Amino acid sequence: LVAEYRDHTPRSAAVFQHASTVMPGGETRSVTYYPPYPIVLSEGHGAHLLDVDGTEYLDLVNNYTSLIHGNAYRPAVQAATAMLTQGAVFASPHERQLDLAELLTARLPAVEQVRFTNSGTEASLLAARLAQRATGRTTILLFDGAYHGSTAPLLADDPNVVTVPYNDLEATGQALTQRNIAAVFAEPFLGAGGVIPGTPEFLQGIADQAREFGALFVLDEVQSLRNSFSGEQGLLDLRPDITVLGKVIGGGMPIGAIGGREDLMSLTAATTKGHIAHSGTFNGHLTAAAAGAVTLRHLDEATIAGLNLKAARLADDIRRVAAHAGIDVQATRAGSILNVHFTATAPVNAEQARAVSSPLLGALHLALLREGIYTTPRGMINLSTALDADDLSRVTAAYSRAFQRLADPET
Ligand code: PMP
Repeated sequence: LVAEYRDHTPRSAAVFQHASTVMPGGETRSVTYYPPYPIVLSEGHGAHLLDVDGTEYLDLVNNYTSLIHGNAYRPAVQAATAMLTQGAVFASPHERQLDLAELLTARLPAVEQVRFTNSGTEASLLAARLAQRATGRTTILLFDGAYHGSTAPLLADDPNVVTVPYNDLEATGQALTQRNIAAVFAEPFLGAGGVIPGTPEFLQGIADQAREFGALFVLDEVQSLRNSFSGEQGLLDLRPDITVLGKVIGGGMPIGAIGGREDLMSLTAATTKGHIAHSGTFNGHLTAAAAGAVTLRHLDEATIAGLNLKAARLADDIRRVAAHAGIDVQATRAGSILNVHFTATAPVNAEQARAVSSPLLGALHLALLREGIYTTPRGMINLSTALDADDLSRVTAAYSRAFQRLADPET
């Protein structure tokens, strides 16, 4: 597979090698690397991507779930372009920010006020600072395998972080009694950790436990907002103290935000005495605010339900065609996001997902690229509204052939 990959991607190889001389490792996002070198993409339109060798792919990555309507979604492009021609960001508030903030407060039950950043990482960091200020405590509780951003205070090896297994209420309760915890950070499903859903009992339980121990409950809906109109909080009637947002709310442009109750959010207000100073030259960038607003306006309940149903069918199809090739596969799913695991039993936490992690994932990734299907090296895929029924049939057929190849390398 690797030799075949090299044969079909000579220009990607050349660009990557050149990039490696001025960019460490040739890339600028760790997750985008895979051996022997990643494909270099040049364009994306709707569900279609083009690489520098002129090969076309169906996009099942959608820039890691951020493109809900596919690449270069015309209404978002038009909205962002309109802002570019009027000045893309000013050193002042702007009505486009107000517009997006109102859309978010209307959709998310626990979000009364919104503060914008440039990424989900920055938003998580701000949520941590807010929780530390509000509680006077420093420790942040994270779940093993969670991803809230790639900076120290959000990583398991930070001294101010304690980590417990996901979907484990008892371990969470124990950590809360043992440490003075400022905030419990949780994703509604482990995204980077393998698309592993949190059970409703777990998510409701940790919200209650956090409250009981005086810690804030921070719900990271950066990925989950694509899966339901009012977020996981709307689905499960959760009331997080702070919600972290990003990805789809920027319509493909860089963005992040936190939202929550007015009394907490006001700690970041310049009008509050002793407030948390929070600035950023590009905070609330107007191209992102405008593209995000139109993207969300085109993401109604019925559209989301349709995408989630297609994803459920695809998960079944993937399991079925793998079984047909004699391979045990589970496609875990949260809304329109899936993750392939080479196992007969779906993992329920990150440790189990790591235990079944297989070199077959890398082989599947390369085999799918040969089929013209762009997926992530770790087996995560997600759907956009740009994929039609024919595209999805093509995807299932491609998985089927790819699994056959893994089962019988001679084919
Ligand atoms: N939280 C979650 C759940 C995410 O999936 C991500 C990004 N993968 C982030 C936070 C960080 O967002 P960003 O990449 O915009 O910094």
